[in-house]
Amino acid sequence: MKAVQYKDVESVMVGDVAEPTINTPDDVLVRVTRAAICGSDLHLYRGHIPGMAPGSIMGHEYTGIVAAVGERVRHVQVGDRVVGTFHVACGACQLCRLGQYHQCSHGGVLGYGLAFGDYPGSQAEMVRVPWGDVNLRKIPDGLPDEKAIFTGDILTTAYGAVRNSGLQPGETCAVIGAGPVGMMAVMAAQVMGAARVFSIDRDSRRAGAAESLGAIPVDSSRSNPVRRVMQATGGLGVDVVIEAVGGPPTLALAFQLVRGGGRIAAVGVTAEAQWAFPLMTALTRDITFRIGLANTHRDIDATLNLVAAGRIDPTTVVSHRLPLESAPEGYRLFHEQRADKVLLTVG
Ligand code: NAD
Ligand code: ZN
Repeated sequence: MKAVQYKDVESVMVGDVAEPTINTPDDVLVRVTRAAICGSDLHLYRGHIPGMAPGSIMGHEYTGIVAAVGERVRHVQVGDRVVGTFHVACGACQLCRLGQYHQCSHGGVLGYGLAFGDYPGSQAEMVRVPWGDVNLRKIPDGLPDEKAIFTGDILTTAYGAVRNSGLQPGETCAVIGAGPVGMMAVMAAQVMGAARVFSIDRDSRRAGAAESLGAIPVDSSRSNPVRRVMQATGGLGVDVVIEAVGGPPTLALAFQLVRGGGRIAAVGVTAEAQWAFPLMTALTRDITFRIGLANTHRDIDATLNLVAAGRIDPTTVVSHRLPLESAPEGYRLFHEQRADKVLLTVG
């Protein structure tokens, strides 16, 4: 089968690899229909996250049709149209039973290398999904794959961040980063009742994009985002900040934007081991700070409902639809920020 393989820094290729097989009674094989390129794939592509052996299959965002199921699988059947969660969990360990699926003792992230379980990715014609009952959801009838795919990662990541921030109806929210995750966070915050949402990015084109969603665009390459937000909030700062970039500069910015007693939820991925936490600021201004990978399993049913009901249209971020064979071009365009979200059509 054809699959997108990691080659080297800033280089992926489409190669021929062996089709996966059912290896355990809980496995499901999914014939992929759509795969997307995620900002998290860019960290691998840019060589920021080690552990991708050359030849490894990339990707963790996908929809498809169930092609085969292991003998213990109960909840999906051959022929079902499904969306998969980007991180896989066993559903049975103590942490999964506590609802902490992203902390599963046996799980990992599809297509994310040795440090994340070494699972082959989903930018391929077929993917093996471990613990298929836990890590797949049937797509509601009438909901197209290209909308459902976002519930397996970025929409649910963004929704989960807004939920973790404790945003209340009527509050103000700043989203740092207007990449696909940031745009999803704008939409999630609006659905969850934010009165006003600021969308901050240093890329002028991306910063402007959220305006069409009803957010207040802030181009941080042209104006000081702290001054802009302070002016607009009477010098108070926002109730809630969602950080959707990753790394020290935008985490530090989050502390400057939030009001006293406010909350920050960070989902941007970084490979930095440490960061000088603004301890005095957090202490004296009573800031709540949360950071973590998404607990997709906790929130995916809610985001599927929102998308199926038409409350959120995640396809507004899609800029390119390319065949799987054109994945190297898709990666290059997304890396250069000339594409916003690239969907790969498979089969
Ligand atoms: P992306 O790379 O397309 O977008 C990042 C955006 O941040 C870009 O528009 C860029 O211009 C902007 N940016 C970079 N530095 C900035 C700065 N200093 N100030 C303002 N803007 C800045 O990525 P994406 O797909 O939107 O994903 C965003 C982040 O979310 C990535 O780090 C990704 O790995 C992460 N992510 C996390 C999870 C999770 O489980 N926590 C899940 C999915 C994605
Ligand atoms: Zn992703």
